[in-house]
Amino acid sequence: MQELLEKIDSYKQEIEASSVLNAEEVEAFRIKYLGTKGLVKAIMGEMKNVPNEQKKQAGQLLNEFKVFVETKFEGLKAQFENNDSDASHIDFSLPGDAVAVGTRHPLSIVRNRIVSIFKRLGFAIAEGPDIEDDWHNFGAMNLPEDHPARDMQDTFYINQNPSWLLRTHTSSVQARVMENQKPPIRVICPGRVYRNETISARAHCFFHQVEGLYIGENVSFADLKQTLYFFVQEMFGKDIKVRFRPSYFPFTEPSAEMDISCLICEGEGCNVCKHTGWVEILGSGMVHPKVLENFGIDSNKYTGFAFGMGVERITQLKYRVNDLRLYSQNDIRFLQQFTGAV
Ligand SMILES: [Zn+2]
Repeated sequence: MQELLEKIDSYKQEIEASSVLNAEEVEAFRIKYLGTKGLVKAIMGEMKNVPNEQKKQAGQLLNEFKVFVETKFEGLKAQFENNDSDASHIDFSLPGDAVAVGTRHPLSIVRNRIVSIFKRLGFAIAEGPDIEDDWHNFGAMNLPEDHPARDMQDTFYINQNPSWLLRTHTSSVQARVMENQKPPIRVICPGRVYRNETISARAHCFFHQVEGLYIGENVSFADLKQTLYFFVQEMFGKDIKVRFRPSYFPFTEPSAEMDISCLICEGEGCNVCKHTGWVEILGSGMVHPKVLENFGIDSNKYTGFAFGMGVERITQLKYRVNDLRLYSQNDIRFLQQFTGAV
């Protein structure tokens, strides 16, 4: 019995002092002490040599020893199980794994910029459906039944219901705003529009517009000019020059196209401005009284102006993109060039 006690004490000291460096050494410890041929098993076997009257006491001692070894083993094992959450092994100076971040599409960049400029002037954003009916797209906008824009050659009609079509301009959104709101109205309508065009460098079957509408009392052509002048200065810089040319749209009277001085040759004349020094950027005009009356707005009390521009056109001028098709080809070599643009 005395001999057994001494053995246990000496093993305890040995076990207490043991340490491990890795998971393999933990396993070696387990085999040495707790394995089927391990020390605990062997020492348990010595019970048979203990006299009967001491068996109870010896059994207790051996059990305590077994628990002691198991506790030690669990402690050693835990050192390596918790290794993952141990921040001391992480080298924060190593370069990180690259995360592929996409870029904003140039049309989104320019549309956001247009929207933010008009928002600062108090314009709210209005949106509407891409699939429209004839009234909101054409009728309400004062386009007569025989207007060429209504021709099947120019407009995509929906097969199942020919009175539905893909909107040809975002004026249809202005129509829906006038239908639901009372003046004063001040909105911009960004969105995609569709026309039955042959796809080329200069034309596409879909493109993007931002149209604007301002209706209130005493809104004049001077307001229109100053609003659009502010816009182009914010968009292209303070040195930009503008000019208005008389034009015709069924939904505005009088109507005007707005040109800006050519950004590329600064008015000297180049291919982009066709050697005139000017490039056209948008159409505008005072809202036709007939359009106001179509929505029950008193045209004697209220006046308004409207304008519309192509986002592709503004992007082309701002970033010198010379082929409309590039915008929808999803070519990463093209899109990556706008990484730095915000
Ligand atoms: Zn030019």
